[in-house]
Amino acid sequence: MRSAVISLAHGLTGAALGVMLRHPAAALLAGVISHIPLDETPHRDYRTALAAIVDLVATAAVLAMACIYLHRRQRAELVLPLLLGAVGGILPDLEVAIGYFYHQRLFFPTHTGLLPHPQLQSGNLGIWTQVVVILLDLLCLGVATAAPR
Ligand SMILES: [Zn+2]
Repeated sequence: MRSAVISLAHGLTGAALGVMLRHPAAALLAGVISHIPLDETPHRDYRTALAAIVDLVATAAVLAMACIYLHRRQRAELVLPLLLGAVGGILPDLEVAIGYFYHQRLFFPTHTGLLPHPQLQSGNLGIWTQVVVILLDLLCLGVATAAPR
């Protein structure tokens, strides 16, 4: 599947930005904007639709765990910014998913070729760049959640 940083990296980056911004609309916008530098980071894309489905299920599971964690930490007010940030981060790839089935025109600048979208389909560097992003996201989520209200 072309043009897709894994949704876990996009979703967690948007979620982390949402928790840091603490505002639902700003979270959604920041999530969408964060999609650009992540797509521009050299990465490896999915090779099968099954991998995309597994990635989406894993993303939903991690986000659900993050929401449970926020409730347990008495930070329920951060759930909506977290979820909207995640939705914003993943949203631009919806056109890629739809295009996989219907081959319609793409609009997001990293999907059209207007902005670079470097692919690393051999070796593991393209996987490690996403692992680093995910770990940084988790660190930011933890720090932002622990910060005072
Ligand atoms: Zn994308």
